[in-house]
Amino acid sequence: MKGFTKIVLFTGAAVTLGIASFTLSTTLADRETNPSGGGSSAGSSASPSQRHKENLSSTSSSEVSTTPEINRTDWNLLLVNPNHSVPEDLQPVLAQVQGKYEMDERVAPYMKEMIAAAKEDGINLWVLSTYRTYEYQQGLFDTNVKQLKSQGMTEEEAIKETAANVAVPGTSEHHTGLAADIMCAEWTGGITDDFAETDAYQWLYAHCAEYGFIERYPKGSTEITGIVYEPWHFRYVGKEHAEIIMKKGITLEEYLGIR
Ligand SMILES: [Zn+2]
Repeated sequence: MKGFTKIVLFTGAAVTLGIASFTLSTTLADRETNPSGGGSSAGSSASPSQRHKENLSSTSSSEVSTTPEINRTDWNLLLVNPNHSVPEDLQPVLAQVQGKYEMDERVAPYMKEMIAAAKEDGINLWVLSTYRTYEYQQGLFDTNVKQLKSQGMTEEEAIKETAANVAVPGTSEHHTGLAADIMCAEWTGGITDDFAETDAYQWLYAHCAEYGFIERYPKGSTEITGIVYEPWHFRYVGKEHAEIIMKKGITLEEYLGIR
């Protein structure tokens, strides 16, 4: 993760990712990357963290009896990652969660409830990105390719480099309406791992499962998720699943047994 240049948040300023430089008035997870996709970011893959390994090894067969049924076709367990594109016919019905931001209407009430609960604890959660259309992600992708070409890259080189740093359209979990990038109103540290040091992150980590959300890209899980560590990206899976996933410290891929 150290290989990623820090990004200034809220400014809409130029963002530098590796050699890719582009204007990002949009926000996050645009940086949700596909380390294996571009073939040029081998250094960004971290090995599983100690925490991750410990959590995995703590899984025992005695817990099986309390595990809810995992039906991979349930809407709330939909897997979208660099290997699994969003279904073409997916068109979530949206509802507002904060400001202009909308999520799947089945999830929005839980997000609003979580934001309200955090506020009672003095944490001002701030939603930065939620649902994105395929076209929107395509626009982000194309803009980056264009920028790189203007800097002298060939079309092929520009696409390859972009794919290493911007989620390929169709593979962003934001297309589902089930995911949100969340920080806090007071945070000025940018879209960086440093957010994990904040009270807001600690609150989210401790309480997100109560509202059905999981930390989707935990530290040290890049090799599994294909996405860099993102302590701001939370995904709805439903409370019963979320509590197990967060307790075990595993990824959705591991929970579902799919990569
Ligand atoms: Zn995100």
